[in-house]
Amino acid sequence: MPIDPRQPYDDANIFARILRGEIPCNKVYEDDFALAFHDIAPQAPVHVLVIPKGPYVSWDDFSAHAPADLIAGYVRAVGHVARELGLVDPGYRLLANIGVDGGQEVPHLHIHLFGGAPLGRMIS
Ligand code: 5GP
Repeated sequence: MPIDPRQPYDDANIFARILRGEIPCNKVYEDDFALAFHDIAPQAPVHVLVIPKGPYVSWDDFSAHAPADLIAGYVRAVGHVARELGLVDPGYRLLANIGVDGGQEVPHLHIHLFGGAPLGRMIS
């Protein structure tokens, strides 16, 4: 079920539990600001999720309320992961689903990073 973006942060959501180490993930990268791990149901040869280390429901919540150092660190981490995975050339795609119409299912901000093949014009 897509989430209501106005809901308060739910500390029990699956990505919060991954951040706390309560649930395993296939980790790609971690620093003070972000954690990146492979999606459990990949939609491309490379499908990585990058999440910020903070209680933000969505991109909307994060962009409005996160401190500047976390925003900068998170954005840098996303780019770093793409470079480390060798995706810059020939390219890759970033996607963030937000709220009900965006089809967001996990209520902790995550950017999808897709690559490893020509992606066409859209990924649902
Ligand atoms: P959303 O629709 O919220 O943008 O995407 C949520 C993504 O999280 C989906 O692509 C889904 O496959 C992935 N996902 C859901 N639960 C887990 C999990 O427990 N572990 C991992 N690695 N990915 C998950």
